[in-house]
Amino acid sequence: MRLVLIGPPGAGKGTQAALLGSRFGIPHISTGDLFRENVTRGTRLGQQARRYLDAGELVPDHVTGGMVRRRLEEFDARRGFLLDGFPRTIEQARVLATILARTGADLDAVLELDAPEDVVVERLRGRGRSDDTEEIIRHRQRVYRRQTASLLAHYADITVTVRAVGTVEEVADRALAALAEPSDQESELPQGL
Ligand code: AMP
Repeated sequence: MRLVLIGPPGAGKGTQAALLGSRFGIPHISTGDLFRENVTRGTRLGQQARRYLDAGELVPDHVTGGMVRRRLEEFDARRGFLLDGFPRTIEQARVLATILARTGADLDAVLELDAPEDVVVERLRGRGRSDDTEEIIRHRQRVYRRQTASLLAHYADITVTVRAVGTVEEVADRALAALAEPSDQESELPQGL
């Protein structure tokens, strides 16, 4: 299972990705978590990324792409993965396509978590991460609308959208049901097969 989660900051991608990852037995790979780990450990990558995280801006694609490529080359990602927070730009989607083409693998689905801005902003206010100040929260929402939302058109063929309002369990149930629905390709199989 090779999955990508897309949704605005605060939609619950991290929470759902952890649940779905353990359900499917695939690693949950969060680029935000990878950057924060690197910042905490004071690595060179962390030093490069830090000011972007603090400002709620996207880390440059070449830095992000290299980090994801190395992570996907690790053994545990061979059988599948759930990407949370990557790709966030069309350029990053191209990088991902190149990485996958090398192994002959394809994405199975893109799961969009959809929630109104007032709901996600309220959630982030209660979370207390260092980039969860009012100003940075608003800015990250703008960055999502400007740079990431257009990916949904890019992945239109394999995107399933789930309403990310309600309890964690409700959203997880909706996500599992949506992912279990046959894809267009399968429903195009000739009758009787
Ligand atoms: P997240 O944990 O997904 O909310 O990401 C936190 C921050 O990490 C973002 O505001 C960006 O600064 C950075 N980041 C995470 N993923 C990416 C990505 N795919 N491309 C660029 N920057 C990213």
